Amino acid sequence: MPTLSDIQDKLRRPLELELAQGCQNRAVSGGMERLLDNFARPFPKVREALRGYDGLEHAERQTALQAALALLAPEGRPAPKVPTRTENRPALPPESDTAPLSPGTELAKVNFGPGAGRKFTSLGLHTLRDLLHNYPRRHEDRRALPSLAEVEDGQKVTVEGVIVSKNRRTPRPGMFILEATLENPWGERIKCTWFNQAWVEKGLKEGLRLIVSGRAKRFGRTVQVAAEHMESVGQDSLSTGRIIGIYDAKEGISQDFVRKATQTALNRVPLGDYLTTRWRGQYGLTDLPDALWGMHFPSDEAHLARANHRLRFDEYLFLELRVLLQGEDAVLLGKRFGASDHDMLGFEGGLPFRFTGAQRRVLYEIADDMRSERQMARLLQGDVGSGKTAVAACALYLAWRDSYQGALMAPTEILARQHYASLQGYLTPLGVRVGLLIGALSPKQKAEVQRQIAVGELDIVVGTQALIQENVQWHNLGLAVVDEEHRFGVMQRRKLLAGRPDVLVMSATPIPRSLALTSYGDLELSIIDELPPGRTPIQTKLIQDTARRQSYGFVMKQIREGRQAYVVTALIEESETLELLAATQLAEDLKVLLPEARVGLLHGRMAAAEKDDVMDQFRRRDFDVLVSTTVIEVGVDVPNATVMVIENAERFGLSQLHQLRGRVGRGSAQSYCILVAGEHSQKTRKRLKIIEDSTDGFVIAEADLKLRGHGELRGTRQSGLDELKLGDLSNDLEIIEAARELAKHILKHDPTLSHPGLAYLKSELQARSSQIAYREVI
Ligand code: ADP
Ligand code: MG
Repeated sequence: MPTLSDIQDKLRRPLELELAQGCQNRAVSGGMERLLDNFARPFPKVREALRGYDGLEHAERQTALQAALALLAPEGRPAPKVPTRTENRPALPPESDTAPLSPGTELAKVNFGPGAGRKFTSLGLHTLRDLLHNYPRRHEDRRALPSLAEVEDGQKVTVEGVIVSKNRRTPRPGMFILEATLENPWGERIKCTWFNQAWVEKGLKEGLRLIVSGRAKRFGRTVQVAAEHMESVGQDSLSTGRIIGIYDAKEGISQDFVRKATQTALNRVPLGDYLTTRWRGQYGLTDLPDALWGMHFPSDEAHLARANHRLRFDEYLFLELRVLLQGEDAVLLGKRFGASDHDMLGFEGGLPFRFTGAQRRVLYEIADDMRSERQMARLLQGDVGSGKTAVAACALYLAWRDSYQGALMAPTEILARQHYASLQGYLTPLGVRVGLLIGALSPKQKAEVQRQIAVGELDIVVGTQALIQENVQWHNLGLAVVDEEHRFGVMQRRKLLAGRPDVLVMSATPIPRSLALTSYGDLELSIIDELPPGRTPIQTKLIQDTARRQSYGFVMKQIREGRQAYVVTALIEESETLELLAATQLAEDLKVLLPEARVGLLHGRMAAAEKDDVMDQFRRRDFDVLVSTTVIEVGVDVPNATVMVIENAERFGLSQLHQLRGRVGRGSAQSYCILVAGEHSQKTRKRLKIIEDSTDGFVIAEADLKLRGHGELRGTRQSGLDELKLGDLSNDLEIIEAARELAKHILKHDPTLSHPGLAYLKSELQARSSQIAYREVI
């Protein structure tokens, strides 16, 4: 049995060796952290001192090693002196214009010239850090300004020259034109014009050197430029002869001012880096000083590209860090299940089909989570009909095998009933007791179900929000499945989480992966990207109003073959009343247009029980055509329905159209979707064509994101995406994934970012977070 001091020795030697070898993390095979895991348990302070060692910079490793050795020094021997980081820095000379300044220094405390304070305030910049991260809105190449011979008509150009004359004209009331003629370094003259911008006049003094960009117009040999951007050029070369950053401007604040101030900040703040050399190497990132210089004053395109890559990475890194830190669930302890392969196979054996490869893969991901002691928080995405419910049923079965209860929560009663029917199909034969709790039950029935939940007489309960009301006491809830999470508020999700079950969120809304990673950052992502075999893809046709009659002829043909049809009326967001009117009217029209068909109506104003009735009738084929507002959007399953007509399709989002279309094609027969466009602009056609051409929800969502920009997608605000200055969600998937990986790695080793080596990272995170908080308040 080794004594404590033996262990102390075992630990001390390799640390000394490591220090002697220059802190390269080579002294111990497997790395320093491995050694600590093996030997340092009795010495928590030593572990603390060396925490995260593998990821530290050289100087930090040295400091950490010395601290640890001091703690391990044999009694009687003096501890080696531990230099602190500040001792290595040159002492600050008393206030001078060249003294280094910390990034947190307030701009007001630095001399940037008269009026600077007001300018910074109006730009929303408060500290040197803000200034350094105030990136240019765009860049302009001013290395070689073109001679006029090279300028083409209609081209966007930047010209430089000295003002030789100026002129103002008012050709008619309300129109004010300023003209200035510049002479460029080739001795050529260029006329620049400003329309209705009286305030420019002050800045146009003869003899002044100007840079003007705008659209060029050629009249024979002369060139005129309609000015869009103008700046005067000082003596130095900050504004010309290089690639220039153009900043967000405000009246009265010149580009020159921002550039000079930024240059001063870059020179006076010793930047260092919040990412270690090792991380930078791993993700191919340049260091922070190089990136900031490159963003503001790039030496060439490559420098700018490298800077942009690094700073974009940082944006996502801090975003992910914050999301992960906020998602406190991420570090909570949850349930620990056996979730064996044997049980999974047992479940599959009872199915009339085999799992697809994709279902099997996500099931392994889910089972892994369930086996771990951490609370599962996973988003299961898959197109309608891809088999999510079957996967969820299997997960619930695994929980049941460990004697835990399970819940499945759906957004509507129709869906809850449908899930209830499926789960009964999957689970009842295996001996699982499945129950249903929805608002439509009588008070007495409800009380009885609640009692059964509380004493554990029910194993799995399907329901609506009724499941998370206070009077529901679970016996031992182990796994909660939440369908179509976006219909629930975050608070509701948390409520259900109160007993800390593992949580699986199912969604058929194909959120592009990049968006899911950022806005659902606290959830792990599993994607079912394959449909069960034997499905015939839905044929989709985009038609114009004029072909409407013909398409209803086609609908009638299907009905004669014994099929059923959905007709979805236009979405009218402003008014449910108008939407109801439109649906009622359309139902009447169709009775005339399709005299042989039996027409039913479903709309959002109906009570839940009424809706269920209509759906049941449709399922029983009591009528052939179901005219509906968008209430059928989610999950309803009528395999005999093979046609869907969507009126005024242009009013729907692409993902919503895709969801709607998913109501058909549930059986083996060929299904059809007809999109009637009520408007025929190029843009509309281009958008709807995406639906016509693809049946892949993810492709559609990506295309939608590219067309609309992420700003319009749901949930972007809370996710803090506002702060993305450089990032572009539709193109940055790889960077996002890398940044997320690093964020997770960092938090895994140090969940509270309290290691001294991470202090800079933490303060940068705080600086970025407080800006967001600030924006949200105003
Ligand atoms: P989702 O919940 O994703 O819409 P479901 O789990 O309801 O999908 O599955 C849709 C239909 O496909 C159901 O009728 C289900 O029984 C069937 N199904 C699910 N998985 C498979 C599979 N691997 N092979 C064949 N059919 C499947
Ligand atoms: Mg778990």
